[in-house]
Amino acid sequence: MTLPGTSTLAARAIAALGRCGATLPTIAGDAGPVPLTARTPIDGSVLAFLHPSTSADVEAAVAGAHDAFLTWRTVPAPKRGSLVRRLGELLSEHKSDLADLVTLEAGKIRSEALGEVQEMIDICEFAAGLSRQLYGRTMGSERPGHRLSETWHPLGVVAVISAFNFPVAVWSWNTALALVCGDPVVWKPSETTPLTAMACDALLRRAATETGAPDGLHHVVLGTAVVGEQLVDNPRVALVSATGSVRMGRAVAPRVAARFGRCLLELGGNNAAIVTASADLDLAVRGIVFAAAGTAGQRCTTLRRLIVHRSIVDDVTDRIAGAYRQLTVGSPFDDSVLVGPLISGKAYHAMHAALDTARADGGVLVTGGQRVGSGESFYVTPAVVRMPEQTAIVRAETFAPILYVLAYDTFDEAIALHNGVPQGLSSAIFTTDQREAERFLAADGSDCGIANVNIGTSGAEIGGAFGGEKETGGGRESGSDAWKSYMRRATNTVNYSVELPLAQGVEFGP
Ligand code: NAD
Repeated sequence: MTLPGTSTLAARAIAALGRCGATLPTIAGDAGPVPLTARTPIDGSVLAFLHPSTSADVEAAVAGAHDAFLTWRTVPAPKRGSLVRRLGELLSEHKSDLADLVTLEAGKIRSEALGEVQEMIDICEFAAGLSRQLYGRTMGSERPGHRLSETWHPLGVVAVISAFNFPVAVWSWNTALALVCGDPVVWKPSETTPLTAMACDALLRRAATETGAPDGLHHVVLGTAVVGEQLVDNPRVALVSATGSVRMGRAVAPRVAARFGRCLLELGGNNAAIVTASADLDLAVRGIVFAAAGTAGQRCTTLRRLIVHRSIVDDVTDRIAGAYRQLTVGSPFDDSVLVGPLISGKAYHAMHAALDTARADGGVLVTGGQRVGSGESFYVTPAVVRMPEQTAIVRAETFAPILYVLAYDTFDEAIALHNGVPQGLSSAIFTTDQREAERFLAADGSDCGIANVNIGTSGAEIGGAFGGEKETGGGRESGSDAWKSYMRRATNTVNYSVELPLAQGVEFGP
């Protein structure tokens, strides 16, 4: 495997950052307080050293955002949309730079990195249109001469805490909507992807200046979970939108609830697809391979469990194994590569341990699971494992490319296996039988927030609401009416009569 030179990678990151308008602080690797180290999973080398935010920085960011809120909430929503429209234009202009940073920090292959930036552009377009559609409703009042309606108002400061694997898309889903809804944002990106965040922040600040938006609408704070915790506990943060592991959500949710703040949680998934005997197998295999091995298995929507009718399970497994053997693993900057690196050695060791456990549970490794290369980067061949049953390791999310294959006999059994995990993010069925498809989408079918037919579990469009049930946390972001999480609802009753009738016919007074 040939990797680009280390100095090339750091230079490429700094150049892309500079073109986006962000500058690196002057900081020596071994001077002063422990710096935050930006590394690339491509070869494990250092891209830059950065200052982690102090608690005073976090407090100042929230205070600045809160000041901006007092002005921004009164700016008409369509004017707020102008800021997001301009941001979308700048993201388009810098698509290649941002994709470079996503590849460098998260290890995504070029096509997926460009796709992630496109997702930012798409949500800006969506949000600019939305800025004229933040509709309330009018309900019929039970009293004569009365009007009953609801109005949506800006909520306050939104803290966005994001994961490494979608370093910019998740930020944009939240930020584009928050801004049109009248809310400033304080963003704590993953400690693994700080440079990408700095580039986005610089572009948003430029859009704000050019469109005359108030100062302080957007802040980035850098650091580990400790910095996130300060946002979580800050009473001036109205909404904590946190994306990451279930472990993180378990820590964050009760802290926000303790101060009666709002939480929007987008946590881990353990996504499955059912392949029925009637499935179009050529289409199914293509969908399965992208969903399971794409992004080196590091999407929250990655396909991790395949539940296949017993009559075709051997054939489907063979076809997938054949397709897996064609997958090229290597540098994500190489156009012929489809599988880039795992994010860290920790991720590799978790994958290794999961495969050992699966084997001890009676699983058979059909293909993959080997480390490619050595040193400070961690590349693997995606693994397929036949499992005799849905054991504990199959029910856990291992954030790496492992696809567990299970066989079923009856459709009810397939649905039970599908729903028999703690997570509830994305799901799919491959079938040409309409009854099976509809049953999968029905109330007693898939229990996930996303349920697809004849398409894999990953690669959602921004137009729909994105999120999942059970341990995935219940939050919804992106399209549809997800904007409502970023606003507060006021119910208004207006009496335009000269009488004062009470609701429910209550009589009161002399
Ligand atoms: P992670 O939980 O380790 O970190 C996510 C973010 O939370 C980081 O910014 C981290 O610093 C912060 N954080 C961690 N503990 C915290 C705490 N106690 N208080 C405040 N902040 C805290 O996750 P990761 O390894 O970066 O990402 C992978 C995980 O994210 C997977 O489980 C994946 O399924 C999930 N994910 C979910 C979605 C979704 O939309 N459902 C999207 C992307 C990733």
